[in-house]
Amino acid sequence: MSAGEVIRIVDVAVVGAGSMGSMALWHLAKSTGLSVLGIEQYGPAHGHSAFAGESRLFRAANKEGALYTTAALEARALWTELERESGRQLLLKTGVLAVAPEGHPFLESTRRSISDGDLPHRFLDAAELRREYPQFAIEDGDAGVMDVLGGGLRSELAVATAQRAAIRRGAEILYNTPVLDIEESGDGVAIRTSAGMIHAQRVIVTTGAWTTRIVPELRDLVSAIAIPLTWFMPEDITQFAPDRFPCWMRDMDGEHAFGVPSLDGYSVKIAPTTDIEVIDDPATDPRELSREQLRECTAIATRMFPGILPEVVRSSIHPESTTVDHVPILDVSESGRIVIGAGFSGNGFKFSPAYGRVLAELAESGSSPLQHPLFTLDHHRRRARARADDLVLADDYPVLQGH
Ligand SMILES: Cc1cc2nc3c(=O)[nH]c(=O)nc-3n(C[C@H](O)[C@H](O)[C@H](O)COP(=O)(O)OP(=O)(O)OC[C@H]3O[C@@H](n4cnc5c(N)ncnc54)[C@H](O)[C@@H]3O)c2cc1C
Repeated sequence: MSAGEVIRIVDVAVVGAGSMGSMALWHLAKSTGLSVLGIEQYGPAHGHSAFAGESRLFRAANKEGALYTTAALEARALWTELERESGRQLLLKTGVLAVAPEGHPFLESTRRSISDGDLPHRFLDAAELRREYPQFAIEDGDAGVMDVLGGGLRSELAVATAQRAAIRRGAEILYNTPVLDIEESGDGVAIRTSAGMIHAQRVIVTTGAWTTRIVPELRDLVSAIAIPLTWFMPEDITQFAPDRFPCWMRDMDGEHAFGVPSLDGYSVKIAPTTDIEVIDDPATDPRELSREQLRECTAIATRMFPGILPEVVRSSIHPESTTVDHVPILDVSESGRIVIGAGFSGNGFKFSPAYGRVLAELAESGSSPLQHPLFTLDHHRRRARARADDLVLADDYPVLQGH
């Protein structure tokens, strides 16, 4: 088949069937009567993109502000719906425990979002943390906040499940089919792929770290970064099983880390937030942590968790797209034909069913009740024009800090 031959004509094409694309496909297939096609450069669930690495944190209490708490609660309801529809457990309901020195800004903003959203929670002092969570090294003056509705998402499983759910409801997905470029034509969008041309009335671009390859005009707004993950072996794995150990975030001695209980029965994810690099080529660049990075992560992890062996047993690096202020882009072009979902800035997975719904609604009707003004291209263009130094951020500006 020649690359110029038209192989499909559809109402909506979704380029990139990863975190956001798979959810947009599911929504389009279940809530609209449109013909829907996903186009993915790799297979169904793969190790090359932002969703890979076994798990992601789900926080209902968002330290970044009320805007995200609303999206998280919407997403939680949709995670439950997808679990029901597929019969698969995607969300581990362990809660998310934030531990930090009393008065730490993350602890304060988490508490604020709990009280603003009236969310179920527990506040713990140092003595309670030592008694109930002996896995953590707790210092005098530490405090904890348990976000009861939080937990961990099985991310590869979730993406594959949303794709399957979409296919069962009539969507089609072309795997191993890179999109080379897209171009608006008079009556739709021409999508050039490795397998031939596709013609769609509207296209949703959810290509993560590859976004600016498909929509080069976004170069000033979106860049690609690489985020590392690490796992360690505990002396006693039972202490880190999901029935004893929650998902967590820890701030200690100026370092930040997050993690998820053991899902494989031998290792536990403890991921210090170090070395987030801007990258040029998400497919190749970089794929491994250096020995120095591994040592640094080990030093932080063993300070936070004395009961682990001092060596990384698993590690991986994942490409992600980010914006200047870490607020995502969920918007549609002026023509109404190209919908963009990008710039999730290390924070998007938990929201993916809600954001997928926004993208599906933007493609279907051009608007979505869940689309916040900060998510628009207009906001991001204004933000990019302003020099960082000139920006005065309001106290409640929802700066995302990751996961
Ligand atoms: C290491 C790490 C840890 C994180 N931790 C958390 C967390 O704890 N909680 C949380 O909520 N969020 C977290 N995030 C953020 C979250 O995972 C991302 O925001 C989210 O996965 C981004 O989704 P996406 O759809 O934009 O990109 P992806 O999931 O990467 O999907 C993009 C898809 O597009 C495909 N694609 C790209 N180009 C093309 C093309 N030309 N043709 C066809 N297909 C193409 C890719 O193959 C991929 O499948 C984390 C991110 C990383 C990297």
